[in-house]
Amino acid sequence: MSIKGKTYSLFGSGANTDHYYRTIRQLTDLFQEACSDKEELLRHVQRAGRDRSLLKRLRSNQIHKPLISYINTTLKEALPVYTTGVKQHLKTLPLSRKFDDVLKTKEYQYHLYMIEIELVNRLYRRAFNDSAYRFALIAHCLRDFRPECRALSGVYESECRGCTRDCFIHLGSALLKKYGIHSFISVSMDLDKLFKKIKSDHQSAGALGIACVPELVQGMRLCVKLGIPPVGIPLDANRCARWMGQCRESSFNLKELEELITINK
Ligand code: SF4
Repeated sequence: MSIKGKTYSLFGSGANTDHYYRTIRQLTDLFQEACSDKEELLRHVQRAGRDRSLLKRLRSNQIHKPLISYINTTLKEALPVYTTGVKQHLKTLPLSRKFDDVLKTKEYQYHLYMIEIELVNRLYRRAFNDSAYRFALIAHCLRDFRPECRALSGVYESECRGCTRDCFIHLGSALLKKYGIHSFISVSMDLDKLFKKIKSDHQSAGALGIACVPELVQGMRLCVKLGIPPVGIPLDANRCARWMGQCRESSFNLKELEELITINK
């Protein structure tokens, strides 16, 4: 079933999210033709996504202008169908929330983040899958809100008890368990502390995130900084209380998740 988020929906105008994933792969392939070094391309995409006024002042000499301009122009044509709510959201964002890095994400940044997630997956998938301890953090807003959640405290975060079949946290956790990945429901606000704790317990740890586009990118960057190979799947739409004022159920693409953890490219 197609769902709409506050700012984005990977359904676009379709009935499922397959078109989104196809488009992102094609675009990333295209950008790799222009810059074959994936790490270098990732650095350019990240720099292009930083605030433009700050960028101009501080980093203009680090920007590969023709490449960035090509990427931005291409994304502006291909991806607005997935980010139709951003402009309205930014217009109505109260002043008190305008300094929240996630909530103030601009439309061009969503587009760059979507490519960044794909690039990070390409770069770190093998290292993630080769990690001795693989863990997943699944956004709490994916749960089925009809029953009382029976999740219990786990070693790092809460763990799903599978109380209802339709809950996306349960579906994700069950799939990940099949492949030996430990799942937790992400509620911690201090990811830095959490990742450092996991890293100190497990020298070889790989992280899988399932979260909304801007939060997933933040988590992936933090993992890379701490030496934890990350991979991730974005939520189909951003619908938690932080965005909507109240929690609405969301989903993610289970087929893409299975591919991510089984195919070493
Ligand atoms: S299936 Fe898991 S996450 Fe979903 S409501 Fe039950 S215990 Fe909570």
